[in-house]
Amino acid sequence: MSIKRRIIELLRAGDFLTAHEIIDVLGLDCDERCVYKHLRHVARSVWRCSGGRERLVMRLPYCRRCGYVFTNLEEPWKPSKCPRCGSRLIEPQRSL
Ligand SMILES: [Zn+2]
Repeated sequence: MSIKRRIIELLRAGDFLTAHEIIDVLGLDCDERCVYKHLRHVARSVWRCSGGRERLVMRLPYCRRCGYVFTNLEEPWKPSKCPRCGSRLIEPQRSL
């Protein structure tokens, strides 16, 4: 099964997961950046294969210090720093 396929099955099964959790659960041999790349493909193919009825849902990342939410997020990735307070304590984006 391809990594993309396995990610789709995993996300279908249940919980919102961070890139890091996806790596853990699937035992993937790649880093978070690589998972985000896969997630972008997953998002596209889920959308396409279902004729628009199904989509990858993202819970947006937010700052753990001031609560700033990264709403300008088009695609899965991990912001490194909060634009409002400069904190690096960013709760990562989760996918379902
Ligand atoms: Zn902040």
